[in-house]
Amino acid sequence: MKFLIVDDEALIRKSLVRAFAAAGFQCDEAENGKQALEKINTNNYRAVLLDVIMPEKNGYEVLLEMKKNTPVFVISAFTGDDTNIGFIQKDPRVIEYLTKPFEDIFAIVKLVVSKT
Ligand SMILES: [Mg+2]
Repeated sequence: MKFLIVDDEALIRKSLVRAFAAAGFQCDEAENGKQALEKINTNNYRAVLLDVIMPEKNGYEVLLEMKKNTPVFVISAFTGDDTNIGFIQKDPRVIEYLTKPFEDIFAIVKLVVSKT
């Protein structure tokens, strides 16, 4: 099964796709929350890497509206005053938080693959 990479920043999306490909895994991409929901609803993904701050729909809305039990890795640069973090922490599908910027993108791939 493929992974779905969701981030509105093309550079982050593409570098994740390349890192997964280098490890032998295929990915689909979505550049906003609306696109992400469409893809999640019509495909079965091994896991979704989900940005929080995005146009159309943000990561919180994607989590609220996605009906599948696909594992989610939240990718974001959280700040201490993020009031929505509690909501994300309560969603049982969220496996892990991956903090941007990534120091070692191959370690991220390894972690996601090992947990799904
Ligand atoms: Mg973003």
